[in-house]
Amino acid sequence: MKATVEDLLARINILDIVSQHVKLRRAGKNFVGLCPFHKEKAPSFTVNLEKQIYYCFGCHEGGNAINFLMKYENLTFQEALENLGSQYGVEVARRSGTKRTSALDALSKLADYYHQALKRSGTAQEYLARRGIDTHIINEFMIGFSDRTRCDMKSFLKDSGLSQDILLSTGVIRMKDGGVYDIFRGRIIIPILDVNGHVIGFGGRTIDKNGLPKYINSPESSVFSKRSALFGIDKTRKCIAEMNQVFIVEGYFDFLSLYKHGFKNIVATLGTAVTEGQLARLRNYTDNITLMLDGDEAGIKSALRLVSLFSDMDINGSMVALPSGHDPDSLVRDEGTESVTKIIGEKKAILDYFFDYAKNKYGVNTLEGKMAFIKSVMPHVEAIRDTIKKRLYIKRLSDLTGLEEQHLWEGMKGKEGDDALKAETPTNIIGRRVVGVLLNNPDLLRSCSSQWGLVDYIRDQDTKTILSRIVDCFEKRKELALQSFVQTLETDALKDLVLRSSLDTAEYDDLEAERVVIDYFRYLEKNSIKEESQRITEKLSEAEKKGDNEEIMKLLERKREVLGLMKSNPMERGGHA
Ligand SMILES: [Zn+2]
Repeated sequence: MKATVEDLLARINILDIVSQHVKLRRAGKNFVGLCPFHKEKAPSFTVNLEKQIYYCFGCHEGGNAINFLMKYENLTFQEALENLGSQYGVEVARRSGTKRTSALDALSKLADYYHQALKRSGTAQEYLARRGIDTHIINEFMIGFSDRTRCDMKSFLKDSGLSQDILLSTGVIRMKDGGVYDIFRGRIIIPILDVNGHVIGFGGRTIDKNGLPKYINSPESSVFSKRSALFGIDKTRKCIAEMNQVFIVEGYFDFLSLYKHGFKNIVATLGTAVTEGQLARLRNYTDNITLMLDGDEAGIKSALRLVSLFSDMDINGSMVALPSGHDPDSLVRDEGTESVTKIIGEKKAILDYFFDYAKNKYGVNTLEGKMAFIKSVMPHVEAIRDTIKKRLYIKRLSDLTGLEEQHLWEGMKGKEGDDALKAETPTNIIGRRVVGVLLNNPDLLRSCSSQWGLVDYIRDQDTKTILSRIVDCFEKRKELALQSFVQTLETDALKDLVLRSSLDTAEYDDLEAERVVIDYFRYLEKNSIKEESQRITEKLSEAEKKGDNEEIMKLLERKREVLGLMKSNPMERGGHA
């Protein structure tokens, strides 16, 4: 019997699925991590075990384990079911193979075919041996070779039974003069795998001395994106997470050489500059990302371009500059592992490199130079969230330019703080927290029934609407069931507020929850009193203008009352509304 979606969901633990891709830490009843779907510095991505759902408070992406896989791996519903089914050993009722699975299947067969072809090619094997790639690495990475002859591809198609259209859709195979040929002819083939170990594309290195270009990659396709793919991540992600550190190298052979020599917390870009997509992927395993690039000027310049991306994404970005004339491959092969270990130990924060670079570029001996220098480094210093680190850089900036630290700090004023939090006033945040607490502990409403009227004093419209609805619902039914309550809300904003707050506050214990509600109503009461007191003050000044003594006396008396209320404890007095 094949399992239904419900059967499958009942077996799945969403934490297992999500934590394969997102670094999560426990926060009360929830687990939180940095959202893989939007750029953020502080974790707003939340997984709730009890409810088996995830939700991002930043970009509002949310759902169950199936939704997560669909979004993260760019899968259709059916594909996500199949993926989960195979992970949990459940056979899910399946339609015929989807396009993505067919493409992955084709690429995997092709990888195997190239791998077999390598074993037959003396020239290709010699080439790899010269580059220090041994059989063990060849087999572990399924390295292959594409022969030059055209009939090869034809017979592969025939033998594998794969559809020509599917292979064409991967871009690896092309049509010419009515026949098929593959774009990698005459090249060593390096299969590129996704985190789940599926072949998604290939890199190809020519073995012809004069062959150009030296490297080519699979073209972009529905399963392959150069901007987010990282070579080797399927093999090294565990080690990266364990060591909480990753080194990025530029080329396949840099990676393979280091890997062979025991450096296993590494990944390679596909010969391209490091992208935001790649950093976002890596950040799911570690915040400590070090670039290991050629020590030439071009290498350093391309690394410095990442300074702002690193600070935007709150990554501890470092850099290792290799001795000039070396790449990681040649360094480890010529100088041995100790030299690599030594150089790794000398890694420097990328911002330090940037300081040196900007200092040399602008010079800090003239007024103009100092100004240009400060202007170019300041945005990166401002972006540092860690206050101690920020202070240290400000101090350095001050030492370098002779400008007092205080003035440098003043230059940053007004730009401090988290943008996301700025949009929400603290009062709104507290209001939303109370919504969550009440949704999770509706019984608390009973103990403050005398104060329900204070809800009218809430300034944030959505919070006010929700809290009045909660009160109404509880009054009518004497209970509050989240699923059905959500159904009664007409706008997405209200629904979002309810879902978000119910998750956000799941971590309170009963006592804390009660405290939060009591404090909030006390706050509302204070607010109502303050407003009343302000109104009286306005009326007083009017009455004074008019010289209406009787009115003045009345208002003063009322003001004394109100101020007295402010000092006493509202909850103990009970029933203000
Ligand atoms: Zn998000």
